[in-house]
Amino acid sequence: MRKLFKQFVNLWHGNGKGQRAMSIHKAFKYRLYPTKKQAKKLQETLDWLRELYNAAIQERRDAYDLCVKRHPNYYDEATRKQLTRDQAISYYQQADQLPEIKELRQEYQEIHSQVLQDILRRVKKTFDAFFGRVREGNTPGFPRYKGKDHFDSFCYPQSGFSVTADKRLCLSKIGTLKVKMHRKLFGPPKTCTIKREGEHWFVVLVCEVQQKMVYHPSEETVGIDLGLLHFATLSDGRTIETPHYLRAAETRLAHAQQRVARKKRGSARRKKAGKFVGKVHRKVANQRKDFLHKESRKLVKKYQTLVFEDLAPSRMSRRPKPKQDEETGEYLPNGASAKAGLNKSIRDAGWAQFVQHCQNKAEEAGSRVLLVSPKYTSQMCSGCGAIQAKALDERWHSCSCGTELDRDHNSAIVILRIGLSGEPIRKKRNKSSQVRTEPSGDALLRSPWL
Ligand SMILES: [Zn+2]
Repeated sequence: MRKLFKQFVNLWHGNGKGQRAMSIHKAFKYRLYPTKKQAKKLQETLDWLRELYNAAIQERRDAYDLCVKRHPNYYDEATRKQLTRDQAISYYQQADQLPEIKELRQEYQEIHSQVLQDILRRVKKTFDAFFGRVREGNTPGFPRYKGKDHFDSFCYPQSGFSVTADKRLCLSKIGTLKVKMHRKLFGPPKTCTIKREGEHWFVVLVCEVQQKMVYHPSEETVGIDLGLLHFATLSDGRTIETPHYLRAAETRLAHAQQRVARKKRGSARRKKAGKFVGKVHRKVANQRKDFLHKESRKLVKKYQTLVFEDLAPSRMSRRPKPKQDEETGEYLPNGASAKAGLNKSIRDAGWAQFVQHCQNKAEEAGSRVLLVSPKYTSQMCSGCGAIQAKALDERWHSCSCGTELDRDHNSAIVILRIGLSGEPIRKKRNKSSQVRTEPSGDALLRSPWL
């Protein structure tokens, strides 16, 4: 049946040359090796742009304070909303001021104008996201001023940069920089982002790449449970373990961080220890990235359909509810310390990144990634579909229907079944992730209890 379909598709779209193609955006990140002088210039540019960013936030904030907050009818909701809309400062209003700013402050003439505009666009995006969350009924934090350590990139959105034939990067107003092109750049880059990570500089070039429609060679499906004990458990019972070197590096990082905490605030020793943490942190991050890329590549190569739980970030980092003793009213341990901490946050980020990698690679490999709601996946029996609550430390799944297996293995099977039944699949979360949400339509795989 499947083969016939493939043939049909081939006939319809033609073989070889006439194959359907679509364009996707691909990012290429390379390390930059600026000279001392160039590095200074890059850092200065960052500092000036940060000043512009903070000033743009300040202007929007002041407009709100002066025109909305001090209005006599502030407490009338309709008036307040109307005023907020009318008095809000737009991107264009801010961009119009750039020439004037350049007159007053000569240093801004040393920055490519589109880079300046891009910063203002970033401010706009921040505010749009803020108001979006307000509309959704949340109480988000107000857009913040950025401190020196929290502003580390700028972008040439269209022009002002080029890659030369001898593989150097030409940046307008900055110069020609040495780049280590460790992999081939596909196509002319559309945007160019310069990024600082600690003491290292990088360039991210985004290209539009033509992608042919591909068909996956196998029809294998898999459900994947991401967990703490094993990095991942597959529905066929296999597990993927966090490599030993990564665990060791994470422990080293935790120790380095404790060392900072012991030093006096503001001291030179603390500063030094802090720098060291940054270094270890980047090392761990790189090792983790490597691990996630390799494992996701393997999965996508082997399986045509991969089903994951949809791990909403807000859900993962939420603190556990406080537990109280019913009689005495005393607070009981609720596992907050186990959920908090660095290791936890690292794992959370790792899982989300892993799913994202699989989604990105699936596109090229002709496989697909489905996300299912994480509700009940750990409690449902993979044999009969009964729901039975389990404590967090219960490692074995045993059901009255005779199903006996490892807890995570059980979850992985449930995840696969829910995914293939095509039922409680969540809509894709953002535009960039290529999650296909259509049901598989494979009746044979549909479990009777779903
Ligand atoms: Zn059962």
